[in-house]
Amino acid sequence: MVDFAAIRAQFPILDQEVHGHPLVYLDSAATSQKPQCVIDAEAEFYRTINAGVHRGAHELAARSTVAFEEARAKVARLVGANAEEGREEIVVTGGATAGLNLLATAFGNASLGRGGEAARRFALKPGDEIVVSKAEHHSVLLPFQELAYRTGATLKWFDLTEDGRIRSDTADEVITERTKVVAVTHVGNTTGAITDIAPIVRRAHQVGAVFILDACQSVPHLKVDFHALDVDFAAWSAHKMYGPTGVGFLYGRRELLEALPPANFGGSMVELAWMDQPAQYMEPPARFEAGTQPVAQVVAAGVAAEWMMNIGMENVEAHERTIAAELLKLGDIDGVRILGPRENVDRIGTVAFDVAGVHPHDVGQFIDAQGIAIRVGHHCAQPVHRHFGLYASNRASSGVYNSVDDAAALVEAVSQVRPFFKV
Ligand code: PMP
Repeated sequence: MVDFAAIRAQFPILDQEVHGHPLVYLDSAATSQKPQCVIDAEAEFYRTINAGVHRGAHELAARSTVAFEEARAKVARLVGANAEEGREEIVVTGGATAGLNLLATAFGNASLGRGGEAARRFALKPGDEIVVSKAEHHSVLLPFQELAYRTGATLKWFDLTEDGRIRSDTADEVITERTKVVAVTHVGNTTGAITDIAPIVRRAHQVGAVFILDACQSVPHLKVDFHALDVDFAAWSAHKMYGPTGVGFLYGRRELLEALPPANFGGSMVELAWMDQPAQYMEPPARFEAGTQPVAQVVAAGVAAEWMMNIGMENVEAHERTIAAELLKLGDIDGVRILGPRENVDRIGTVAFDVAGVHPHDVGQFIDAQGIAIRVGHHCAQPVHRHFGLYASNRASSGVYNSVDDAAALVEAVSQVRPFFKV
């Protein structure tokens, strides 16, 4: 049995009052809080090791490189990716957004003929199709929409069920012989719905398309194995999985990373550079990691990954399911509508809701006055809000540190909103 109260006690930030109430943090889908071991890891790195990686002959540089590569291996283990030297499948990025843009830029470069014959599988031309879904965060929608504009490819998308699930059952119609790229979210950041990706992956591979997973909202909450899921690429951010801001990871199947041309250019990604001929780039992952790396943050993210594995992602899933069950009681309040599945099945503890007649910013302020932090707005996912006939909503989202009491406090506070605003 995991003692989740003891886990909560590892988060110093939660031990405070906000507006005279004990803080209840229900905004982990935006960013998670950090356990003491992660905070310490970053400071300890600066206190004892700090140096650039993969360069310099001195001892600190060697230690820094070992710490950086060990962190990459821990992150790989968390998501079922290869970690052995020469077979690495994890690329360090600036976050999910950076990872998704890296892919879209690299595919654009392949479309211009960069990367040669090996990169042809990523090349797009007019008439080709890129498929996303209406549930996407803007960091999936926009890079691939721009890629479509740049290459003349057509952007298509999966529609959603009434409760906001991606219509995986339509994969055979939406994905065609002309589809080259499919990018969908594993868990909706507004709906909390877990996508049934298997039929989409199967169909994408049947037509030779590359399948990209936005794993931002799955890696922190579910046991995820990218090999078992058979995805080609996956992007996510460290700051939502109890790690630092400013870093993230891109998983790529090894043979695809080897075939993919680089997207960012600079130091530490090149074997040979000349004035009068093209450079010769390094093998992955270095090829995609131009510039000085955020080493302290990556090391701390590795500690976060290990910390999550020590709790056990099955335990995290089970714990957060109990919180989701309590949050879903929001839907029983008069005038409150849940934007996502009402049943506590194939979903996580991210529950967006609308309060009839009360603007989300008013709801958020009313809730905040009671020390409860939730997110309001469109959560960088405007199309899914349009699907529900709204521009904005309120969103509560759980983390390992939340208790059922936290969720119950929110439900109680939300039940007071409409009476307070007299609607
Ligand atoms: N995709 C999803 C589903 C997200 O929830 C987020 C974060 N809101 C992102 C992508 C983008 O992540 P980041 O802002 O950390 O790059």
